[in-house]
Amino acid sequence: MKRSPVFLLLAAFLLAAPLAMARQDVTSLYEISTLDNLLAGHYDGQPPVSAMLAHGDWGIGTFHELDGEMIVLDGRVYQVRADGKIREMTDRDARVPFALAAAFGPGQSTAIAKPMTYSSLQTFLDSLRSPGRPMLFKIHGRFPALKTRSVPRQRKPYPKLSEVIAHQPVFEYQDVTGTLVGLWSPAGLKSFTGSGYHFHFISDDRKAGGHVLDLQAAQAEVFAREADRLEIALPETWPLAETAAAPAAGREIQEP
Ligand SMILES: [Zn+2]
Repeated sequence: MKRSPVFLLLAAFLLAAPLAMARQDVTSLYEISTLDNLLAGHYDGQPPVSAMLAHGDWGIGTFHELDGEMIVLDGRVYQVRADGKIREMTDRDARVPFALAAAFGPGQSTAIAKPMTYSSLQTFLDSLRSPGRPMLFKIHGRFPALKTRSVPRQRKPYPKLSEVIAHQPVFEYQDVTGTLVGLWSPAGLKSFTGSGYHFHFISDDRKAGGHVLDLQAAQAEVFAREADRLEIALPETWPLAETAAAPAAGREIQEP
């Protein structure tokens, strides 16, 4: 059966339109260093805050010498220090050892009207994401309970992150309104971005924040954006490689 050119044109349009609409929600993820490198104790900042902001208005990370948790929200950079104090980081030359950033923009939102635990919130977010690509989130809402942590500034020789967070200061807030900034990332990117969910929080009054450990959400508006690319600003040094024993001569690498 022959199809008219008009039919083919219409069919092509109908097929292409949803794809074009979906593409508007896709962005590129920019990363400074890798999570594995941070876990290994690489806290020397390299690219400055300005490099991050050139790649986006959304982000999470930390600062030179692991000096607190970073939240980038709507192009503003906030630092939650180990004493719980929060300040806006206006120094664009401040160096960054690890961060994830992206151009997020306004985006479309989905409302959550019922109370949720951190676990049920994650199950809900699972329904919004694709199975294999990082999904970036901005979630503004009211949180009857919120538990966060920050990390204290370190001096050389730097300990591993696991040693630092064994003594992390924890903050417990009640009834705060603010924004969760974070992402879900697939297991395949674990060494680079971490895997699963990772959120930082900042309250509307900029008095509460940190790396989220647990929460209860009363109501929230979820903005989501998928990342289909990852650009990594590679670190200049690799503590993992520097400290790893050199393989014995002639030994074959067994890992796939
Ligand atoms: Zn964090």
